Amino acid sequence: MRIQLSRQALLSELRAQVKDLSEQNLLACYQCGKCSAGCPSIEAMDVMPSQIIRWVQLGQIETALKSKTIWLCASCQTCKVRCPRSVDLARIMEALRQLVLRENVNYVHPNMISSEDLEELPQIALIANFRKFTP
Ligand code: SF4
Ligand code: SF4
Repeated sequence: MRIQLSRQALLSELRAQVKDLSEQNLLACYQCGKCSAGCPSIEAMDVMPSQIIRWVQLGQIETALKSKTIWLCASCQTCKVRCPRSVDLARIMEALRQLVLRENVNYVHPNMISSEDLEELPQIALIANFRKFTP
């Protein structure tokens, strides 16, 4: 994937919002990849967690917002524990999700869930799902 580097992207409002919401030093990451190597959700993700923070560092927030990875992060904190720079990637993922949800966009809509699944899935799982994926 080609990305366009620019001063404008680095100073963008969206990037500043990710920094503020996550309260993380985005530049601390030096791309060692230990977060991605230990992530239990990585097989389902479309890009690695370390790629997400790289995009954020470079101001490519719109690209990060389009990835499935930010929604599949389970906030398990494994990456934070493994990170030699103490970056809390789960908080960055959460900040990115917040940017989408604040636009009143549902990542999962109740109508997307089949009636069979609604009957079979535990209610607690559905509630957790809607807390995470809907505004
Ligand atoms: S483990 Fe930390 S420093 Fe290494 S790539 Fe992940 S966020 Fe960056
Ligand atoms: S917090 Fe998210 S990105 Fe980090 S290891 Fe867990 S699932 Fe992967």
